[in-house]
Amino acid sequence: MSPTEIVLLVFGALLFLALGSFCCVIIDRLPLALDEPNEYGELWDTRPWGQVFGGNSRCSDCGEPVHFYDNIPVLSWLALRGKCRGCGERIPAFHPIVELVCPALFLLTIWSIGWGWQLLPVLWLIPVGVTISAIDLRTLMVPTRIVWPAFAVAVVLTLLAAGLLGNWIWLLTALIGLVTLAGPLFLIWFALPAAMGFGDVRLAVLLGWTLGFYAGSEPLAGLFLALVCLVVSSVVGLVVGIVALGARGRKAKVPFGPAFFAGAIFCILMAPKILEPFGIYSL
Ligand SMILES: [Zn+2]
Repeated sequence: MSPTEIVLLVFGALLFLALGSFCCVIIDRLPLALDEPNEYGELWDTRPWGQVFGGNSRCSDCGEPVHFYDNIPVLSWLALRGKCRGCGERIPAFHPIVELVCPALFLLTIWSIGWGWQLLPVLWLIPVGVTISAIDLRTLMVPTRIVWPAFAVAVVLTLLAAGLLGNWIWLLTALIGLVTLAGPLFLIWFALPAAMGFGDVRLAVLLGWTLGFYAGSEPLAGLFLALVCLVVSSVVGLVVGIVALGARGRKAKVPFGPAFFAGAIFCILMAPKILEPFGIYSL
């Protein structure tokens, strides 16, 4: 590793640590608990972005402003032992977890893909996917307010990466990934709306496009990688489901978002290992 790469690595990890903190703000503030179920029978709605980012950080319980020295990723949570300095209310443990997962995934991504413009879409997917997963775990919703804008940005970043590296075929692979991942989920949602929320179909559009991009220059590899992602996500989902049913009771609804994101990130980072045995990997 060259000195420049080490500096970039340290800088990137710190940036993703800070991004993790930013994700926590969204995870805390975007979901809005409803007093009674809305017309779709949902218990949560989302706040407009203006309200999510308006004002300084405050304790959601006592309203005490959070000082900058209580806002340092991971360390502040440990120093405060997970409690608000003002009122002693618990600060959820997802804070340090999210703050650590973001830089960890960044480092894994560099290790797997290396430096280059092709990093852009996956570096965008990391904070977005972590945020969506945490919100889905808390509220069982995949917020439209995040998924569609995030998908638009992902498309722009893939266009940029494909253009800068002069490999437009990657966009076709991305599209095939999208259709392969979102298609079956759309059919399940259409046939059995009780079994799965439309949120998972939306998420599949974002994950499928990004995942497909990393399948490389052979469009059919997009299909293959998306199928692997479905299998991996289902296995992870099953484990999450068993744990959730144990923790929340037999009738609990189980979020699929975290397993889906985990499966997609796994397939993106492992794409060379999954595809090279078939001689179809080139990114
Ligand atoms: Zn407080």
